[in-house]
Amino acid sequence: MTLQIGSDREVLVLAKTIAANEFPIERPGVVGQDRASGALLRLSPFPWRGADADPPVRRWSWIQVGTSRDERDTRPETHTVQGEIRATGYVDAKDGWRLRWPFVRPHLCGSLEALVELARARAATMGFVRPAPEIDIVQLPLRLRFRCASEECASMHELPILDWELHSLAQATRAKYGPEWATRFRDTWGAGLTRRYDAHLLLSAYAQAPTKLYVAGLFYPPRVVEDAHEHAHHVRHREHAS
Ligand SMILES: [Zn+2]
Repeated sequence: MTLQIGSDREVLVLAKTIAANEFPIERPGVVGQDRASGALLRLSPFPWRGADADPPVRRWSWIQVGTSRDERDTRPETHTVQGEIRATGYVDAKDGWRLRWPFVRPHLCGSLEALVELARARAATMGFVRPAPEIDIVQLPLRLRFRCASEECASMHELPILDWELHSLAQATRAKYGPEWATRFRDTWGAGLTRRYDAHLLLSAYAQAPTKLYVAGLFYPPRVVEDAHEHAHHVRHREHAS
């Protein structure tokens, strides 16, 4: 008999993921960052109120939670959750994501291909990837088509989306616009997104298929605006070049 001794952690909620009920299956979860170690954690199954209903925690909130490593899951980040979950703080988006970037940058992967290599070695099964600007969102089921913003990128990817937020936005768009919802949704969350934001994808491998990935979260920080000094410098540079 194994004695389950959990440890109390403070975790920053980065993304909430819905379940996938066909192979490869996935339980609903929260992807977060452990305050003490800085490591990414997958808290799964996460106890929502009711099946896949509104998760009781907000993205970018700090929660205090009891966790234990899930030894049946071969992915090193997966932990189960025990006891009460308490929200203790929130990381604001202000100042162009100044407070949020430090939680994304350490987990940036050069490409999906690089993350698959890490997953194959069971070193890491989650990471952020920056897509090239031409992303597209398709359904049903909800999927994202993209290439990585990297020379390592070998082909177009099409990954299932398990990001809870995107699924609830799709439902809201459908309720509001009826038959034309898909076109609207595609415009806003596909190509329209990378025009306006510096989009990043949080990708995760499945437990049942360690080299197959899904989109666990879509992140859209503001584009960094070139400041006046840099802009003048670039203009001069272009004049020189011509
Ligand atoms: Zn790629």
